[in-house]
Amino acid sequence: MKVLKFGGTSVGSAERMKSVAKLITDGEKKIVVLSAMSGTTNSLVEISDYLYKKNPDGANDIINKLEQKYKQHLNELFSTDEYRQKTQEVLDGVFSNIRAYTKDLFTLFEEKVVLAQGELMSTNMVTNYLQEQGVNAVLLPALDFMRTDKNAEPDPVYIREKLAIQLQKYPDADIYITQGFICRNAYGEIDNLQRGGSDYSASLIGAAVDAKEIQIWTDIDGMHDNDPRVVDHTSPVRQLNFDEAAELAYFGAKILHPTCIQPAKYANIPVRLLNTMDPAAPGTMISNDTEYGKIKAVAAKENITAIKIKSSRMLLAHGFLRKVFEIFESYQTSIDMVCTSEVGVSMSIDNTKHLNEIVADLKKYGTVTVDKDMCIICVVGDLTWENIGFETLAMKAMKDIPVRMVSYGGSNYNISFLIREADTKRALQSLSDTLFNNK
Ligand code: ASP
Ligand code: MG
Repeated sequence: MKVLKFGGTSVGSAERMKSVAKLITDGEKKIVVLSAMSGTTNSLVEISDYLYKKNPDGANDIINKLEQKYKQHLNELFSTDEYRQKTQEVLDGVFSNIRAYTKDLFTLFEEKVVLAQGELMSTNMVTNYLQEQGVNAVLLPALDFMRTDKNAEPDPVYIREKLAIQLQKYPDADIYITQGFICRNAYGEIDNLQRGGSDYSASLIGAAVDAKEIQIWTDIDGMHDNDPRVVDHTSPVRQLNFDEAAELAYFGAKILHPTCIQPAKYANIPVRLLNTMDPAAPGTMISNDTEYGKIKAVAAKENITAIKIKSSRMLLAHGFLRKVFEIFESYQTSIDMVCTSEVGVSMSIDNTKHLNEIVADLKKYGTVTVDKDMCIICVVGDLTWENIGFETLAMKAMKDIPVRMVSYGGSNYNISFLIREADTKRALQSLSDTLFNNK
């Protein structure tokens, strides 16, 4: 069986839902994981924000607007009163559920329930639409099988067992629709897999049913509501190894949500990225296969800050790196690139919330320099150290660009450069000319 996931923009209007319905009704049995309609989760976050701030009027304004929008969607989606009515009743329940929270104490627990409503609505709409069209589709409630454990990590054993029970209930169904993103926690409370988490749901479901393939359908400009800035992206990449995809995921490069990679990788299930706007295109295949000797992509991430600490005491000292890293850890700031010499360490971070405190603490151990407005350029492909030539090519591409740091050898799939943000375009162009167009 295949598992197909459609993101928020792919189900973002009645029209788009109809296209998805057409796409999935090809006679093959499948599980379809849906996001909330685009913008809905953001509205639900906003509603929660008003409720935290004890402003029920603010929340009600957004709830009313959202409800109006959904009324309109239902009118456009259904052609029979029966199915429109049936779906309307579900949405009425959803909205009265949300409204109930405007009159009560609002905590993290209630917020999770509110955030779950988007996926509950979209999946009901698509399932009912399919049934109206005469398709044998059933809705599998994710809250009955998707669960996290006490460490807030998905519980694959539970998921596999409970999902199997759900599937067995409807052996004759052609299409199983379910919600991405939402789950229950170890205490049975409604929870979620974090923003953008429906890719993760699809991957977990794929692993739980030993799927033949997991397909992540997205539309070209709408992969995640929360994508980090993607500066550039080379010509379509047809095949990636999971590790190459993981390298690129940091750049939000229209690849998978980072969390989604691990379950599929371990279960050895290929993930195919497809485009709803161009369904016939082959897309990108991500699997455990490596295309040997090939450079796959170049990606960039801006707004990077480099921090260098130099200490003559580092010479022959042990424990220096630990002390430095501990400072970043104590401010919950993750380090992305690291370069060391005998007397100094340079690191890059993308979250500067605690930069001042970090720098102040680092000064206890050495001389600190900070460079802002930097950019990480990352070349991804088969960069196993035994291969020769690729490092030189990448370096050659950077010959006219001041390079602050270079990182190579951290994985078999990556070489990264830290440069000035102002040089990003030039660097990407030069790399793509040198690596892909043999210029
Ligand atoms: N609806 C959720 C969000 O917008 C989950 C997802 O779309 O993947 O974050
Ligand atoms: Mg989304």
